[in-house]
Amino acid sequence: MAGIYVHIPFCKQACHYCNFHFSTNNSRKKDFVEALLKEITLRRDYLQNEEVQTIYFGGGTPSLLRVQEIDKIIKTISGNFRLGGDLEITLEVNPDDIASKDLGFLTDLRSTSVNRISIGIQSFDNEDLKFMNRSHCNEQALRAIENCLNSGYHNINADLIYGTPTLTDKNWEQNLYRLIDYGVPHISAYALTVEKKTALHTFIRNGTVKPIDETKVAAHFEMLVESLNNNKFIHYEISNFALKGFISRHNSNYWKSKNYLGLGPSAHSYNGNTRQWNVANNHRYIDQIAKNTPDFEIEILSLENKYNEYILTSLRTMWGVDLFYLMENFGKSIEKHFLKQVQKHIDNSISITDKNYILTNSGKLFADRIASDLFLN
Ligand code: SF4
Repeated sequence: MAGIYVHIPFCKQACHYCNFHFSTNNSRKKDFVEALLKEITLRRDYLQNEEVQTIYFGGGTPSLLRVQEIDKIIKTISGNFRLGGDLEITLEVNPDDIASKDLGFLTDLRSTSVNRISIGIQSFDNEDLKFMNRSHCNEQALRAIENCLNSGYHNINADLIYGTPTLTDKNWEQNLYRLIDYGVPHISAYALTVEKKTALHTFIRNGTVKPIDETKVAAHFEMLVESLNNNKFIHYEISNFALKGFISRHNSNYWKSKNYLGLGPSAHSYNGNTRQWNVANNHRYIDQIAKNTPDFEIEILSLENKYNEYILTSLRTMWGVDLFYLMENFGKSIEKHFLKQVQKHIDNSISITDKNYILTNSGKLFADRIASDLFLN
C-alpha cells in the first residue's frame, strides 16, 4: 500500500505566499525530465517491491509538462515498480494551463493513466487572486473546472485559500458554493499562512500588508465546515473534504504513516524507519543524477520521532489517534505519556470514540498546538 510522489519544480510566476520548492526558470526542463526518469530507475528498490497504489504529480506546476512527458514518467514508474490494479494517479494543474477553449491538454491527458485532477483554484475573486500573485483570473478558474468535466474528468479536487485580507465573508461563501454547485467532489481548503522567505512575509514586515487576522481565519473555517457538512462532504482531514467515494487515497496514505517514495528536487521519502529528502536545487539535482550520485539527506527516525509524527498526522484526521495502534507500536510508557497529556484537552478540543481520540471542530483550529502538547521532547 505504498505511494509515489513526483515533484515538478517549475512555475510561471511566484505566488506571494508560497514556500514550496520551484523555479521560474524552466530552461533545463528537458534535462530535469531526463534526470527524473533516471532517478526512477536508480530508486526502484526503495519500496522493496511493495505494491504502489497511488502516484501524485505535485509541485511546482506539473501542468507545465507536456502530456508525452507525463506519460513517459508514468510508464517508467510502471516498468520499475509493482503497481496495483486500482491505481489513483493525480496531476496538479494550474487553471491557466487547462483553460483553453480547445481542451487540447486535457483531451490528450485522457489517453494517459492520469485519473484524478487537482486544480489550484485558490479563489474565484480577481482582487484576491491578484493579492496572491496567482497566474490565473476568475474566468480561467471557472473554465478550468468546466473543461475538466467536459473532457471526462469527474474525480477532481479544487484547492482554496481563506483568511486573505482581500477575501470578504461573502466572497468566501461564493467560492465555496461555486465548487458545490459544479459538483466538485473534493475540496482542499487552507488558511493563509505566512512562511519565512516569502514575499508575503516581507510585505507584512514592511507594513504594506496587514498581519493575518486570526478572527477572520476562524470565521472562514467555521463557514467552510458548515457549508461543506451541509452539502454531504466528509470532513476527513482538517483541510480536506470529500463526497463519498472521493477521499484522496494518496494523502490518506501520508496521514496513515504508509511508505512513500518522493522523486524530484526537494521530494521527501519515508519507509517506516528513515526519512530522506532530495536536494532542493534543480541544477544540483540534475547534475548529481547525471553522475549517478543523487544528492539527498537522510534521517534515521527514533521511536520518539515516529510517535511525534504519528500524533501530528493522525490528530488532523477524522480517524484521530488510535489507542490500540499507539500501544502496539510505541509501548506502555508512551501510551501512559499520551493519556496523561491528553487529559486537559478532553471535551473542549478532543472527543473520544471507542479508543480513538478525535479533534472537535474548535480543537481543529489549534491542531498543531495541541499536537505539540502531546509530543515527546
Ligand atoms: S503555482 Fe503553486 S508551487 Fe507555484 S508558486 Fe504558486 S503556489 Fe507555489
